Amino acid sequence: SDVVNKIAAGEIIVAPCNALKELIENSVDAGSTSIEILAKDGGLKLLQITDNGHGIDQEDMPILCKRHTTSKLKTFEDLSSIGTYGFRGEALASISYMSHLTVTTKIKESSCAWKARYAKGELVPMKPGQTAEPKPTAGRQGTQITVEDLFFDNPNRRKAFRSASEEYAKILDVVGRHAIHCSNVAFTCKKHGESSMGISVPANASTVERVRQVHGSSVANELIKFEVSNDRWGFKSEGWISNANYSVKRTTLLLFINHRSVESSAIKKGVEQTYATFLPKGGHPFVYLSLEIDPRRVDVNVHPTKREVGFLNEEEIVETICDELRSTLGKVDS
Ligand code: ADP
Ligand code: MG
Repeated sequence: SDVVNKIAAGEIIVAPCNALKELIENSVDAGSTSIEILAKDGGLKLLQITDNGHGIDQEDMPILCKRHTTSKLKTFEDLSSIGTYGFRGEALASISYMSHLTVTTKIKESSCAWKARYAKGELVPMKPGQTAEPKPTAGRQGTQITVEDLFFDNPNRRKAFRSASEEYAKILDVVGRHAIHCSNVAFTCKKHGESSMGISVPANASTVERVRQVHGSSVANELIKFEVSNDRWGFKSEGWISNANYSVKRTTLLLFINHRSVESSAIKKGVEQTYATFLPKGGHPFVYLSLEIDPRRVDVNVHPTKREVGFLNEEEIVETICDELRSTLGKVDS
């Protein structure tokens, strides 16, 4: 029902940054090598993402924003897989329930791009008096998603946002994480009407270079390579971590599990405890960690916004990572 759809949407999209995370994941899944983000009023007035990925077939546009529409569910095994992800075909549907959503997209085989507008899961006319069908338009291969007036019919939700700059900071955080993790993808993010970039990372930048662009040279210059894997617990992990002589204001943990940005309080706690024995009191680490775990061992449905995840043998995996952290930090002495 409409009410059920609206409630489901409200649980997935609680702030502009949640919508943006879903949209970035879709752009990455579409094989994009360039992702551009534009925000106005912290993403509440406008959130636009433009990619150069494979695009969406015009024939698929009428059902694009229906719940459970996905092109990513291939096998039953996939149902428990974080590789293509927990809530399937929910993101665009949810966003269409709480904003004015416009999609412009072109696949390679099409001679033009197609533009359509959505509300509550359905195609709606772009202008009064027009039909709801997608309209041909000029455009390059890829997809542009424009989200306007997020939460427009939910005044209570809107009121909960204290400031546009706070929301923009959360947007920059989401973009920054992906800009660091998604090697070979160029990212830009800026405020509407401003020429200066909030984030700008070229496609060919190394991971350390990406950290430099997003978090500055002082952190980037202090990073050491981290790597550990373990067949018994079925995982491998790599990343870049601040050394034992350097500290940031508060713990920064950029965690990706199977290429999705997630939170794990177990990993965060382990990382903080490990660094605490190296850093002076009040010091905090910067840690970027990419973890690959057998998708069948990962539970993404702990929380509807998909951020906090759990996995099998959590204790053993966290311990293995922390042992290696300890030894990596202990080795480097400057
Ligand atoms: P899911 O990602 O779980 O499939 P979404 O609601 O996020 O669900 O997206 C629905 C579908 O829309 C995707 O499966 C994909 O086929 C298509 N899609 C969404 N965004 C893009 C994009 N940027 N490029 C190409 N296809 C996209
Ligand atoms: Mg998606």
